[in-house]
Amino acid sequence: MTGSLDEYALKRNFGETPEPGPEVEDTGQQRFVVQEHHSSTLHWDFRLEIDGVLKSWAVPKGPPEEPGVRRLAVHVEDHPVDYIDFQGTIEEGNYGAGEVKLWDNGTFELEKNEPAEMLFTLNGKRLHGRYALIHTREKQWIMLKRKS
Ligand code: MN
Repeated sequence: MTGSLDEYALKRNFGETPEPGPEVEDTGQQRFVVQEHHSSTLHWDFRLEIDGVLKSWAVPKGPPEEPGVRRLAVHVEDHPVDYIDFQGTIEEGNYGAGEVKLWDNGTFELEKNEPAEMLFTLNGKRLHGRYALIHTREKQWIMLKRKS
Protein backbone atom coordinates (compact mmCIF):
# COMPACT_ATOMS: atom_id res chain seq x y z
CA MET A 1 0.00 0.00 0.00
CA THR A 2 1.23 3.47 -0.81
CA GLY A 3 -0.01 6.89 0.13
CA SER A 4 -1.11 9.48 -2.38
CA LEU A 5 0.28 12.96 -2.87
CA ASP A 6 -2.39 14.12 -5.33
CA GLU A 7 -4.05 16.46 -2.83
CA TYR A 8 -0.63 17.77 -1.69
CA ALA A 9 0.29 18.55 -5.31
CA LEU A 10 -3.08 20.19 -6.13
CA LYS A 11 -2.69 22.67 -3.27
CA ARG A 12 0.77 23.87 -4.27
CA ASN A 13 2.63 25.62 -7.08
CA PHE A 14 6.14 24.16 -7.02
CA GLY A 15 7.55 27.11 -8.94
CA GLU A 16 6.52 29.35 -6.02
CA THR A 17 6.94 27.31 -2.83
CA PRO A 18 10.24 25.99 -1.41
CA GLU A 19 8.43 22.84 -0.21
CA PRO A 20 9.50 19.43 -1.63
CA GLY A 21 7.80 18.01 -4.71
CA PRO A 22 5.12 15.28 -4.58
CA GLU A 23 7.25 12.12 -4.71
CA VAL A 24 6.20 8.96 -2.91
CA GLU A 25 9.33 7.24 -1.53
CA ASP A 26 9.48 4.10 0.57
CA THR A 27 12.66 4.48 2.65
CA GLY A 28 12.01 1.53 4.97
CA GLN A 29 12.34 3.89 7.93
CA GLN A 30 9.76 4.84 10.54
CA ARG A 31 10.46 8.46 11.31
CA PHE A 32 8.29 11.21 12.68
CA VAL A 33 8.53 14.99 12.72
CA VAL A 34 6.74 17.86 14.43
CA GLN A 35 6.96 21.24 12.69
CA GLU A 36 5.91 24.52 14.30
CA HIS A 37 4.02 26.32 11.57
CA HIS A 38 3.45 30.06 11.84
CA SER A 39 0.75 30.31 9.17
CA SER A 40 -2.48 32.33 9.46
CA THR A 41 -3.02 30.46 12.73
CA LEU A 42 -0.09 28.99 14.67
CA HIS A 43 -0.24 25.19 14.85
CA TRP A 44 2.06 22.19 15.06
CA ASP A 45 2.14 19.64 12.23
CA PHE A 46 2.62 16.05 13.40
CA ARG A 47 3.77 13.63 10.69
CA LEU A 48 4.42 9.85 10.69
CA GLU A 49 6.34 8.11 7.89
CA ILE A 50 4.00 5.33 6.69
CA ASP A 51 3.46 3.78 3.23
CA GLY A 52 6.01 6.02 1.47
CA VAL A 53 4.49 9.31 2.62
CA LEU A 54 4.10 11.36 5.80
CA LYS A 55 0.64 10.85 7.32
CA SER A 56 -0.13 14.30 8.75
CA TRP A 57 -2.22 16.06 11.38
CA ALA A 58 -2.37 19.74 12.30
CA VAL A 59 -2.45 20.11 16.09
CA PRO A 60 -3.67 23.62 17.07
CA LYS A 61 -2.29 23.49 20.65
CA GLY A 62 0.67 21.21 19.92
CA PRO A 63 1.23 17.54 20.77
CA PRO A 64 0.74 16.58 24.44
CA GLU A 65 3.98 16.08 26.37
CA GLU A 66 2.30 14.62 29.49
CA PRO A 67 -0.29 11.84 29.97
CA GLY A 68 -3.87 12.97 30.56
CA VAL A 69 -3.76 15.86 28.10
CA ARG A 70 -6.05 15.45 25.06
CA ARG A 71 -5.32 17.58 22.02
CA LEU A 72 -7.39 18.03 18.89
CA ALA A 73 -5.49 16.83 15.81
CA VAL A 74 -6.97 17.66 12.41
CA HIS A 75 -6.09 15.16 9.69
CA VAL A 76 -4.56 16.90 6.66
CA GLU A 77 -3.23 15.71 3.30
CA ASP A 78 -0.31 13.25 3.08
CA HIS A 79 3.05 14.99 2.65
CA PRO A 80 6.18 13.70 0.83
CA VAL A 81 8.82 11.94 2.92
CA ASP A 82 11.33 14.73 2.07
CA TYR A 83 9.13 17.10 4.06
CA ILE A 84 10.69 15.56 7.18
CA ASP A 85 13.68 17.90 6.73
CA PHE A 86 11.73 20.95 5.56
CA GLN A 87 12.22 24.24 7.39
CA GLY A 88 11.86 27.72 5.98
CA THR A 89 9.40 30.35 4.87
CA ILE A 90 6.50 29.79 2.52
CA GLU A 91 5.87 33.16 0.88
CA GLU A 92 2.55 35.02 1.00
CA GLY A 93 0.11 33.94 -1.68
CA ASN A 94 1.03 30.26 -1.30
CA TYR A 95 -0.86 27.54 0.56
CA GLY A 96 0.29 27.49 4.22
CA ALA A 97 2.21 30.77 3.90
CA GLY A 98 4.42 31.46 6.92
CA GLU A 99 7.47 30.12 8.70
CA VAL A 100 8.00 26.39 9.33
CA LYS A 101 10.42 25.41 12.12
CA LEU A 102 11.53 21.99 13.32
CA TRP A 103 10.04 21.33 16.78
CA ASP A 104 10.87 17.62 17.26
CA ASN A 105 11.84 14.54 15.29
CA GLY A 106 12.87 10.93 15.82
CA THR A 107 11.60 7.44 15.16
CA PHE A 108 8.45 5.57 16.10
CA GLU A 109 7.12 2.05 16.45
CA LEU A 110 3.61 1.43 15.16
CA GLU A 111 1.47 -0.90 17.30
CA LYS A 112 -1.92 -0.39 15.65
CA ASN A 113 -2.97 1.35 12.43
CA GLU A 114 -6.73 1.17 12.01
CA PRO A 115 -9.31 3.69 10.73
CA ALA A 116 -10.57 4.40 14.26
CA GLU A 117 -7.33 4.30 16.22
CA MET A 118 -3.57 4.46 15.83
CA LEU A 119 -1.23 3.40 18.62
CA PHE A 120 2.51 4.07 18.49
CA THR A 121 5.59 4.78 20.56
CA LEU A 122 7.59 7.93 19.83
CA ASN A 123 11.35 8.15 20.32
CA GLY A 124 12.04 11.85 19.88
CA LYS A 125 13.91 14.60 21.68
CA ARG A 126 10.81 16.19 23.20
CA LEU A 127 8.18 13.51 22.63
CA HIS A 128 8.80 10.01 23.88
CA GLY A 129 6.57 7.22 25.10
CA ARG A 130 3.33 5.59 24.05
CA TYR A 131 0.81 7.72 22.17
CA ALA A 132 -2.63 7.28 20.65
CA LEU A 133 -4.51 9.03 17.88
CA ILE A 134 -8.24 8.38 18.15
CA HIS A 135 -10.58 9.18 15.28
CA THR A 136 -13.68 11.07 16.45
CA ARG A 137 -15.43 12.44 13.34
CA GLU A 138 -14.59 13.40 9.77
CA LYS A 139 -11.09 14.91 9.87
CA GLN A 140 -11.01 15.24 13.66
CA TRP A 141 -8.79 13.07 15.84
CA ILE A 142 -7.68 13.29 19.48
CA MET A 143 -3.96 12.90 20.25
CA LEU A 144 -2.93 11.81 23.69
CA LYS A 145 0.03 10.35 25.55
CA ARG A 146 -0.75 7.07 27.26
CA LYS A 147 0.13 6.47 30.91
CA SER A 148 2.75 3.74 30.40
MN1 MN B 1 0.75 23.31 8.72
